[in-house]
Amino acid sequence: MKKIRILVTGGAGFLGSHLCDRLIQCGNDVICVDNLYTGNKDNIRHLLDNPYFEFIRHDVINPIYVECDQIYHLACPASPVHYQKDPIYTTKTSMYGAMNLLGLAKRTGARILLSSTSEVYGDPECNPQVESYRGSVNTIGPRSCYDEGKRVAETLFFDYHRKHKVDIKVMRIFNTYGPKMDIGDGRVVSNFIVQALKNEDITIYGNGTQTRSFCYVDDLIDGMIRLMNSEDGFTGPVNIGNPNEFTIKQLAERVIELTESLSHLVYEDLPVDDPVQRRPDITLAKKILEWEPQIQINDGLKRTIDYFKNQINLKNDK
Ligand code: NAD
Ligand code: UDP
Repeated sequence: MKKIRILVTGGAGFLGSHLCDRLIQCGNDVICVDNLYTGNKDNIRHLLDNPYFEFIRHDVINPIYVECDQIYHLACPASPVHYQKDPIYTTKTSMYGAMNLLGLAKRTGARILLSSTSEVYGDPECNPQVESYRGSVNTIGPRSCYDEGKRVAETLFFDYHRKHKVDIKVMRIFNTYGPKMDIGDGRVVSNFIVQALKNEDITIYGNGTQTRSFCYVDDLIDGMIRLMNSEDGFTGPVNIGNPNEFTIKQLAERVIELTESLSHLVYEDLPVDDPVQRRPDITLAKKILEWEPQIQINDGLKRTIDYFKNQINLKNDK
């Protein structure tokens, strides 16, 4: 099989590092581009000696010149805590990052995939969310830098496709969790597991009745690679996520049960514009990609708990 050259932006992050692993295992030549804003070299350390893996420290708000056959464009902070820290930079990353990588795809003829998000649906009025739903997004709130940034990235992808015939794939990712999430990432699954393992209070924002649908990382990466290699002309957008929906309180209780923790639930203020419900309709992914998640919540949480147990032990040993 001919080795193909694959560029992964955001490759040192949670999803990107899993993707690099999978692409290397499949015999590809991988270039990982990341400025380590939220990512971590430890996520890719085991790949650094591989002659078919290269790491380039680079900020995607600037153009990049490399030769490649496929581009997975993931670079962007994803946790609300991180993307709200410097919201203007988040918008720049989404918008300039998309333009620069689309420019690269145009010049090289590479196929390019965008890791968009369920956040393009905002605080949705319908449940589950289907790709044709246009969303209910606040343009001026604290989440807007991320939501609108991703929406304009999608727009740029489709404009480059229509105007310059760039070969695009747009994926809308719903909440995904698993090993290699950063311990201080701030998203709900990592927060709850770390709090439970330390027997600290579990922080529920609001009354915990808001819902999310959690996809295990291996399933997500499988869907991403299937989309990249899907039939010519299929652009998406396509939802990739696990349609099993839980309230945040149910998630907290499940984590306590699986970790046998002594933690108690505490209730804190609900962040502004926190979506009330979120669940993907994955009919399109099933039909076109023949994809659906295989790993359900207990199994996925157990694997993630094992990962964080090791991380906490490593920290304590230092
Ligand atoms: P992450 O924060 O772990 O990874 C993002 C990576 O991008 C990090 O390594 C970071 O250093 C890098 N990065 C950020 N800004 C950059 C810049 N300007 N230049 C170069 N690199 C930059 O988050 P993740 O969960 O792995 O998310 C990856 C992608 O998937 C993001 O685009 C995110 O929007 C999307 N997504 C993730 C989820 C999820 O649940 N994990 C859900 C929806 C969408
Ligand atoms: N959340 C929570 N406690 C935490 C972190 C998050 O209750 O310690 C809630 C958050 O308010 C949201 C849900 O969990 O309703 C998912 O949050 P996350 O930051 O993981 O991602 P989101 O889906 O909001 O982008």
